[in-house]
Amino acid sequence: MGIKCTKCDNESIIYQKYSGMHLCKKHFVEDAERKIKLTIRKNYNIGRDETIAVALSGGKDSTVLLYVLNKIFGERPDINLVAITIDEGIEGYRSHTIQKSKELADKLGVRHIIRSFAEEYGLTLDELTVRERLHGACSYCGVLRKKLLNKTANEVGATRLAIGHNLDDEAQTILLNHLKGDVSRLVRLDPPRKIEGLTLRAKPLRSIPEKEVALYAIVNELPMDFSECPYAHEAIRGEVRDMLNEFEASHPGTKHSLLSGFQKLVPILAKEYPPEKNKLSECRVCGDLCTEGLCQACKLLGNG
Ligand code: SF4
Ligand code: ZN
Repeated sequence: MGIKCTKCDNESIIYQKYSGMHLCKKHFVEDAERKIKLTIRKNYNIGRDETIAVALSGGKDSTVLLYVLNKIFGERPDINLVAITIDEGIEGYRSHTIQKSKELADKLGVRHIIRSFAEEYGLTLDELTVRERLHGACSYCGVLRKKLLNKTANEVGATRLAIGHNLDDEAQTILLNHLKGDVSRLVRLDPPRKIEGLTLRAKPLRSIPEKEVALYAIVNELPMDFSECPYAHEAIRGEVRDMLNEFEASHPGTKHSLLSGFQKLVPILAKEYPPEKNKLSECRVCGDLCTEGLCQACKLLGNG
């Protein structure tokens, strides 16, 4: 018998260095779900008659996100969940994760919509990166996926768009924007108010460390795919991730405090950098809201 759970006599499956607790399977699952519910209650005030669109890639984060949201809201007749999967067109990768996303949505009985870059933009991400040798795939991918997710969420009448960012993603993005000195982007990470025309975003997993999201998926035997996208991630993000992981190892709780400090700063920063003061206007090509008359996506696609 290994180490015991801090809360019961069962064997521990995880040691949370930041909380000092050893948790068994049951208490680990309870702990994660309690924190996710708390995040939702504190940040996302979900009311009656809402449609929550869930961005589902088939990877571990979005898989856990849909599973947990279905567990929390699935029984509520006034709340409607819709999973949206975007097929960017990445050979040898996306087809596997799409398969898993279908399995999960089927298993949970959640409506599932799959949209592709090919049908929406006329070409796949693979074709785009060949055409535009100079830029990295991820910048195209992120901008175009966000646009299509938002459009699809609007089409299904979603009041929220939930995305699977975990604590590690949030901490990395916060630090990254600090390192780049990009304060207005920092504020937009967690906009205190709704921006007209954009579905409100929700990140219910933002307080759960990446490792625990993975463990949650494993202990609940969720269908998911572990293949990695063949395109490299933003190099600087990798450096920030390594740095944060080292810091977390020697100073447990660092990622949590980075996020909670940021949340205290946002309302203060938002007074100087109000998101709506960025004078949003309609893109002259597609009509989406943007800051410069031509949205990022249309710029990248070479439209207009
Ligand atoms: Fe897209 Fe980059 Fe993510 Fe691959 S790693 S899915 S190219 S954002
Ligand atoms: Zn226990």
